[in-house]
Amino acid sequence: MKASLPKDVFKSVQQTIQSGAKLDPSVAEAVAGAMRDWAISKGAKFYAHVFYPLTGLTAEKHDGFIAPQSSGDVISEFSGKLLIQGEPDGSSFPNGGIRDTFEARGYTGWDVTSPAYILEGEHGSTLCIPTVFISWTGEALDKKTPLLRSIAVVDKAANRILKLLGNTDVAPVNSSCGAEQEYFLVDANFANARPDLLLSGRTLFGKAPAKGQQFDDHYFGPIPPRVQAYMHDVEEKLYKLGIPAKTSHNEVAPGQFEIAPVYEAANVASDHQQQIMTTLRDTAKEHGFICLLHEKPFAGINGSGKHVNWSIGNSTQGNLLDPGDTPEENLQFLAFCGAVIRGVHLYGPLMRAVIATASNDHRLGANEAPPAIMSVYLGSQLEDIFNQIKDGNLVGSSHKGTMQLGIDTMPPLSKERCDRNRTSPFAFTGNRFEFRAVGSSQSVSGPLIALNTMMADSLNWLSDQIESKLGSGENIGTVVQAVLKDVMDKHGAAIFGGNGYSEEWHTEAVEKRGLLNIPTTADALPYLKSDSIKALFESTGVLSPTELFSRFEVYAEQYILSIEVEAKLVSDMAKTLIYPAAMRYLSESAGTIANLSDIGIEMDKAPVEKVASLAKALFDAANELETAITKHDFGSTEEHMQYCASTIRGMMDNIREAADTIEGEIADDLWPLPTYEEMLFIK
Ligand code: ADP
Ligand code: MG
Repeated sequence: MKASLPKDVFKSVQQTIQSGAKLDPSVAEAVAGAMRDWAISKGAKFYAHVFYPLTGLTAEKHDGFIAPQSSGDVISEFSGKLLIQGEPDGSSFPNGGIRDTFEARGYTGWDVTSPAYILEGEHGSTLCIPTVFISWTGEALDKKTPLLRSIAVVDKAANRILKLLGNTDVAPVNSSCGAEQEYFLVDANFANARPDLLLSGRTLFGKAPAKGQQFDDHYFGPIPPRVQAYMHDVEEKLYKLGIPAKTSHNEVAPGQFEIAPVYEAANVASDHQQQIMTTLRDTAKEHGFICLLHEKPFAGINGSGKHVNWSIGNSTQGNLLDPGDTPEENLQFLAFCGAVIRGVHLYGPLMRAVIATASNDHRLGANEAPPAIMSVYLGSQLEDIFNQIKDGNLVGSSHKGTMQLGIDTMPPLSKERCDRNRTSPFAFTGNRFEFRAVGSSQSVSGPLIALNTMMADSLNWLSDQIESKLGSGENIGTVVQAVLKDVMDKHGAAIFGGNGYSEEWHTEAVEKRGLLNIPTTADALPYLKSDSIKALFESTGVLSPTELFSRFEVYAEQYILSIEVEAKLVSDMAKTLIYPAAMRYLSESAGTIANLSDIGIEMDKAPVEKVASLAKALFDAANELETAITKHDFGSTEEHMQYCASTIRGMMDNIREAADTIEGEIADDLWPLPTYEEMLFIK
């Protein structure tokens, strides 16, 4: 940008990016011209407004730079107007009732804060411009708009409290995100022979392999050469797009891997995360793999998550979730940490709702991934300090002598001392929080919007408290300590450092601490309509009630549709693949048994009888499921979701159980689907 733009234009754009200052429209013309020339010099023939609809996917509207003229000439055209605003036909994107199709118009608007890039494709290169996507009435139809709003509100709230805590020089505060992405690679020859993998992203059938992950020999083990070549290719493509990817190693499950980009400003990280998913998928095809981003592609094998590492900070105070080395930073740190504790306790259901998808339900609470109860893990040292604050008896980490939480007497905190807890859905990891419960196929925008917004709400609440108490003339240390004690009294129940997978925690969390266990998406999404969440988004201005409600509608519909698609597949595959295989086996076996009997050898008929009765049950159950999914007369969306969560899912599980048993009984050469062994171990 610096090389291509006039100095004052460059400065103006930087101002907008760094401090959120309004973009001067006259600047757009200069930027558009420079962008076009730059893109064309790199071989781009097209440009696209890239936006992020509620499907969680990435959408693009492509246009050519070249505009034919009536004279028969062509000129390359790309004005400031075209840069700033586009008008895709938005009618086919889900909007949850915000627009009727007759007013289908949606607008895309240039997001100056996210870098444009050139995407090289087989048929030419495209200048891609990240944009927001809004309706003609100004409502957000996408995931970026509320993310940008949440970034602005947390900036404002953080600024306010930082000034109250005595800072005079406070730069704009931004939230940061580094999202570790887990994924599976399956040889394309196998994956292409599995309709379930191709259409639903997970195996709906498949007997557990003799060897699973019992030996933990895959984790950090050697990466197969073919996978290494793939990873190298992915990283190179990402570097070209300006996305530095940090690590790639084997994950817990066989065939599972991880890629972690270096953290960036939340908005940019979110856009980049979408590109990472696209790049992982596309590059896999070039290497003869299929990349599975589904949260649970294989039953009985670890699922995939996306650990969203999140922090907030600025250029003057640094990372506000870093304990720092000096006492003043410490006081500040405890205040920000206290805000997180309050947020998790008050808005736990929101955190659960933003990670609720049909696919993530297979992971959450399934005794391997973080449970469906939201709590926050602080590490023993920090938890100890907060408990001391709660008891009104802060003695510091050394436990020697009572201390006042004052500027000069803060306990030293070391970020290195932070232990890890893999069973917590939301864990402090030394200088950031790690939202571990996010699903691998998800956009990170939803989780980031929730974290930023609840943080803003909590910081504002703390500021209100501090302001009202400061009036009585007490010093800031005493005041903050009193406010944090209040936070602990009201919200300390959200802090949990033990084993989140254990039965005891489920009982304690719900019965003693009053936390909510929200097992499925059908249970979680309705919280989006609760008064407290509505008030949170309305008061901060991140989502209007209409926008929030539309999100409930869209996500609920996606949930129902994805279960219906899976159910249809289960029934189809059971009837057209598995049942016929069982019948072939039965007829072959029956013939053999009869032939052998002719020469005086009597075989045991029990195995055949077993398969026969399983096959019959399978066929009947598949028919029942087929009928069950045609039911659509529900009183409410909630009711329909519950029906999918319990009835439909239950029927699918039963059919699978029968099919998987048959798989273990019949001849391998008659089995019509690639097996778990083949898919997981052949690389
Ligand atoms: P681990 O696997 O131990 O959790 P990694 O180093 O693999 O850790 O990944 C950590 C992720 O957290 C990376 O994407 C990294 O860029 C990101 N990260 C590091 N510091 C911060 C921070 N202050 N804020 C947000 N994300 C961060
Ligand atoms: Mg991690």
